[in-house]
Amino acid sequence: MKHAFTREEERTLMAVFDTAIPAMTAAELLELVPSLANEVDEKTVAAFAAEVPSQVPGLREELHTILPAHVTPEKIAELKMVLRLMRGYLGSLALTGSLTPFESQPLAVRQKQLLAWKVSVIPVYRKLYDTLVKLGVALYTRNSATFRKVVRYDPAPVPLAKSYYDFSFMSVVEAAQGKWDAIIIGSGSGGGVAAKAMSEAGMRVLVIEKGEHFDQSQSYPEPFALNNMFERAILMSTQDDSVALLAGAVFGGGSTINWAASLQTTAAVRENWANEFNLPYFTSPEFQADLDYVCDVMGVSVPKDHNTQNKIFLEGARRMGYIRAVVPQNDGGEDHGCGHACANGCVSGGKKGGVHKWLVDAAVAGASFLRADVRRLEFTKRVATGVTVRVGKEETVIAAPRIIVAGGSINSPAILLRSKVRNPRVGASIYVHPTNYVYGVFKEDTHPTDGVILTAVVEEFANMTPGGYGPRIETGLMQPVLSTTLLPWAGGQVHKARLARHSHMVGLIVITRDKDSGRVTLDKYGDAAVNYSVSATDAHNIQTGTIGAAEILHAMGAEEIIVAARGVPSWKTGDDWATWKEQVRVTRPASYGSAHQMGSNRMSSRPADGACDPNGALYGVNGVWVADASVLPTSSGVNPMITTMAVAQKIVRGVVDGWRGGSVAAPATGPRL
Ligand SMILES: Cc1cc2nc3c(=O)[nH]c(=O)nc-3n(C[C@H](O)[C@H](O)[C@H](O)COP(=O)(O)OP(=O)(O)OC[C@H]3O[C@@H](n4cnc5c(N)ncnc54)[C@H](O)[C@@H]3O)c2cc1C
Repeated sequence: MKHAFTREEERTLMAVFDTAIPAMTAAELLELVPSLANEVDEKTVAAFAAEVPSQVPGLREELHTILPAHVTPEKIAELKMVLRLMRGYLGSLALTGSLTPFESQPLAVRQKQLLAWKVSVIPVYRKLYDTLVKLGVALYTRNSATFRKVVRYDPAPVPLAKSYYDFSFMSVVEAAQGKWDAIIIGSGSGGGVAAKAMSEAGMRVLVIEKGEHFDQSQSYPEPFALNNMFERAILMSTQDDSVALLAGAVFGGGSTINWAASLQTTAAVRENWANEFNLPYFTSPEFQADLDYVCDVMGVSVPKDHNTQNKIFLEGARRMGYIRAVVPQNDGGEDHGCGHACANGCVSGGKKGGVHKWLVDAAVAGASFLRADVRRLEFTKRVATGVTVRVGKEETVIAAPRIIVAGGSINSPAILLRSKVRNPRVGASIYVHPTNYVYGVFKEDTHPTDGVILTAVVEEFANMTPGGYGPRIETGLMQPVLSTTLLPWAGGQVHKARLARHSHMVGLIVITRDKDSGRVTLDKYGDAAVNYSVSATDAHNIQTGTIGAAEILHAMGAEEIIVAARGVPSWKTGDDWATWKEQVRVTRPASYGSAHQMGSNRMSSRPADGACDPNGALYGVNGVWVADASVLPTSSGVNPMITTMAVAQKIVRGVVDGWRGGSVAAPATGPRL
């Protein structure tokens, strides 16, 4: 194995990681978390207390493999430079104010140093803290079996689907020899809908997906899913490192790993899109019919029961008098038995996303599939002629007269930018629904990973800014790795104690419909770079939602409430509630997550405002449509899968009609290639 870090660099990193998750005595741990004594055996308590990341089997190997695979060489070089500085006398003086290198300092001094960096007014120190501590905690939670044991994360085996479709993938040579009416790039929520509609209409369709297909005959643990089913193993973030970007990169895309919430677009958003972008479709019965159609295909139904988390959430919202609703699921109308492991690929087959519905129907109707990375579209003059794919180091051209771009809102603009489509709106307006976790810690066990993940929503704050902008509150996935990613670090012992209380937590997510957007560009390797910072308006809205989430947990008797606002301590029983809320109100979250990227190739009736026309056709060329979340005019507010699928259905209906009529597309309009 080629090592990404030298022995010395690794030693410094381990010193940081072992400070973030330090060794302590069992007695110290039990003093912070007395309930552990009744929940796990003494041996486990002692092992967890004593464990440090540097001793966790597999962690060092992952450090050397995962970063080079998913992070740019520049970022690794930056990290190496910091590690070098931390080892030298002068660098230590600059970074820590002491000539003694970080790794030679006693634990208490190292802890103090990390805490000082965390709240420093100097951005470079905060970034240092963010990079090093988050990396250490993430590698620890991904790799430690003792952590899973102490939080009693031992979910019942997922009942495997009784039958599943045995997809076959053609070779690139076969694909290049094929005759295609259309190529669909990406097999996610938009691509799956497109594949079904077009192949059932009789078109010869090739779906090209860069992610792997995981056989549905076995279940996959959370760390495996994070490393193998997500874009850049969830190590991707916005260029300013403030928002971690989560997107599916697997056969079925987001529909394979998402949380099954199936909400339809709200009236405020429909009107906003219709009026602001002159898109009457969104207030027409046609849109409603498309929403209903995609829900019917997946058997979207109201959940029959709520897990403990959702029950606590709904009751807290009731006690606060908040507007709330039950969230339907795309579960085919049946009990869905995956628990939170549904987010690892839904091997029970209960979630009717791509691999259990859309792509199956497409395959049955004759669609073909290829696993390859689409690098660019090919054109003759302004007319699309096919795509160039990369498999290993080899590039191959596959010809087709129609290209449906459905690579998701991060990658679709990147593909079009690499294709040198001179359409200035491509990538120009990405929205991310910045999201914050608010954790309530309860006396009783909350069984956080039981049952269906997300079955309720609070809408109280969804219309804070005119046009329907504001946060929604929902319950978050509580598998132990992902759900602790945004758990703020407030010292090593405290963090260990917080991790140990995971089975007493309710994790609420505050998802904000963002008014302001960012931009997707290409980095020097030709890959997507997301330039986005949460604006003051959106930060204000998310802080209001954060307080709303905290109110719900407070109303339900949480003993501790933890929010990811930099420097804000957790609230504990006995603390002054009003003072704490005021602190949260004036403090921006330290970092956000995003599982919803949208609008980077938005549609508009005016080329000056949108990359695509109202039918999803890319302005400026002929034969290219965008049919994924990137075509949405702005952020969707509700979780975007259903809206994305409905819009994809509308777009490919137009493509199919054109194909039946013998045409490729309307003449190219807008800026030239
Ligand atoms: C953790 C998580 C939970 C979520 N939960 C929900 C939920 O409960 N409800 C909801 O409504 N929404 C949810 N979402 C969001 C929803 O899944 C996405 O909005 C939706 O899937 C977006 O659809 P899409 O077609 O734009 O892209 P995706 O579904 O992301 O599909 C894009 C596909 O294109 C592939 N691709 C990209 N580039 C290339 C290339 N160059 N060549 C070939 N293939 C390529 C990708 O690998 C991917 O498979 C969740 C998302 C995440 C990440």
